[in-house]
Order: sequence, then C-alpha cells, then structure tokens
Amino acid sequence: MQKLEVLVECDAHAARHEANETVSFAVDGRHYEIDLCEVASKRMRSQLAKFTDAARVVRSRRARRNPRRTHADRERSQNVRATLQAAGIPVNGRGRLPKDAMEKYDEIVNGH
Ligand SMILES: [Zn+2]
Repeated sequence: MQKLEVLVECDAHAARHEANETVSFAVDGRHYEIDLCEVASKRMRSQLAKFTDAARVVRSRRARRNPRRTHADRERSQNVRATLQAAGIPVNGRGRLPKDAMEKYDEIVNGH
C-alpha cells in the first residue's frame, strides 16, 4: 500500500516545494498566515526586521484576559495560605488558590 504524504507547500515561491513553517502576521486589522520554506521565512523576517524592530509588541487579547501573576498577587496568596494554615485548613503549596480556599479566607478575615 502506498503511503500518502501530505505536503504543505511554500506559498512564496512559484516552484513547488515543501514549507517548513506557517508564519502569521497582522496588518491593518487583518490577520494573515503564510506557509513558507526556510529560505522564504528567513527573507521575510529580514525584510520585516526594520519594521518589527521599531514596532511595539501588542499582547494578545487572551494574554490580557489572563494576566501574569504579579508580585502583589504572590504576596497576597502567601498571606492567604498562612492564614488558612493557621486556621487548620489544608491548602496547596503553590499556584493559584482554589475558589473555596479564597472563600474560607474571606470568612476568617471578615468574620462571616
Ligand atoms: Zn519557498
């Protein structure tokens, strides 16, 4: 049985050959994707460098919705952990605190 090979073709050159990456970019509010071979992707990056070097990087909407934890966040969760542990409530040692842990902390701190 013949094995079927799926090739992603380079979009930048007329001759058919394999692309080895998909490059995405956005201009004027439109997002584009192009399949490029190594030669084409290098050429694209070097030609765009004069613009990308001068440009600001915009964080994606997803990154904004799920911001990185700040120093203040960490300090606060350390505080919450210490308070819960002192009250005899088991908490995980690291990472984001579960909702019910935060609720228990509120109960302890606010007294309701
Ligand atoms: Zn190519």
